[in-house]
Amino acid sequence: MIESLFKLDFTEPKIFLAVCLVMFVLITSRYFILGGIFHLYFYIWRKKEWENRKLNKKDYPKNQFRKEVYWSMLTALIFSIAGAISGLIWQRGFTAIYLNISDYPLWWFPVSIMIAMFIHETYYYWLHRLMHHPKIYKQVHQIHHDSKITSAWTAFSFHPIEGFLEALIMPAIVICVPMHLYAIIFHLSVMTISAAINHLDIEIYPRNVFGNLLGKHVIGATHHSHHHKFYRYNFGLYFTFWDKWGKTESPNFEREFTTRGERD
Ligand SMILES: [Zn+2]
Ligand SMILES: [Zn+2]
Repeated sequence: MIESLFKLDFTEPKIFLAVCLVMFVLITSRYFILGGIFHLYFYIWRKKEWENRKLNKKDYPKNQFRKEVYWSMLTALIFSIAGAISGLIWQRGFTAIYLNISDYPLWWFPVSIMIAMFIHETYYYWLHRLMHHPKIYKQVHQIHHDSKITSAWTAFSFHPIEGFLEALIMPAIVICVPMHLYAIIFHLSVMTISAAINHLDIEIYPRNVFGNLLGKHVIGATHHSHHHKFYRYNFGLYFTFWDKWGKTESPNFEREFTTRGERD
């Protein structure tokens, strides 16, 4: 059980390193499993869109995949250390994490996830806009934008400074918001899956009423592909509301989204 892992003394250097290693294996596994699933899905079932994506060779350099995996491994290392530090501060009693589900009303479990996602969204949107400031962009955020045509492998391709800035928010959330351990795991899983989906470059939301509603409010492949192509639009992480309020949503997004699948 995950709970028993946290009964170990994280201040012991050997145990701290072992926890970092376990987290690194978990984070890299989910990266390769998710990336692999999407890779096969497009390669086998949506081959036409897959080929179209690669038409513009200039924008899809040969070594892009190798670079993305390299930077994503560095990000995984930073996230692992942040995870181990979060475990350590939890043991020392500085977080609001709880293990006993009856410590809070049951409705708090989903509400805590929604609050955590709202805080994460707000932090990321404004951090992201800051990272596009000309004085910061080159040093911190350009690595991520080296991928002009993205894929699931781009999801965690960050410069270590950006990886560090992004890792800060989870410890901050668990210090302030009481969250059950499984609520945290759920939030982290949503974060990973949505990061992969947002970088697919090929839209996967269904062409029906539900898909249209989803695409209006929840960021997907079309929305984030506009960020990588046009830079100054679409800074959000999970939801589109900050981009709508901040008037940073791409003017072509809605049109392109509603004609998804007919883009090429
Ligand atoms: Zn950006
Ligand atoms: Zn991106």
